[in-house]
Amino acid sequence: MFIFFYGKRRARIKTAISSYEHTCEYCKSNDMRVKVYQTYFHIFWIPFFPVGSKDAEIKCAKCNSPKWNDFIMKKYEASTRTPFYLYTWMLLIPLFIGLIAYICEQNAQHTREYFAKPQVGDLYEMKNPGNGRIVYFNMKITAIKNDSIRFRLEEAAFADNVEYIFQAHDLRKMRDSGLIVQIDRE
Ligand SMILES: [Zn+2]
Repeated sequence: MFIFFYGKRRARIKTAISSYEHTCEYCKSNDMRVKVYQTYFHIFWIPFFPVGSKDAEIKCAKCNSPKWNDFIMKKYEASTRTPFYLYTWMLLIPLFIGLIAYICEQNAQHTREYFAKPQVGDLYEMKNPGNGRIVYFNMKITAIKNDSIRFRLEEAAFADNVEYIFQAHDLRKMRDSGLIVQIDRE
């Protein structure tokens, strides 16, 4: 079973000590600890993108008592940059698209090469746009004699050696009409 984990988490994106116009009312310390957080959406704990605004928390650096000061909080929220790692998945998306495009182009190139120089064992993934419903099936080259190429239908439903012989010019017509989806070679 595949479980898809996603949700929101909060990352601390800054910790700073500040003594800006402050004296703790409990311990009289002048130091405050400011932490800035950013909520982000994650998939499998990998950050996807930030959600909502940054929020700062201020506590006394010595006695830890919380402190509310809108001015200082806003100052730190505004000056803290959202780190790029909170966009990890977003950055990966173009990479995935690029990879898929590359694989498709590789397949298309192999198909062109294998079509130009067929070999026994080549597997043709075919498309048959039948009665409004496209049917896919595979054929494997079993013999080549001059321009005649013999194929065996590679479908479990037709296990009993259904064979076709095509001439090279027939195959070119099939290719040009988009009936040959892909050619694989082991
Ligand atoms: Zn204090």
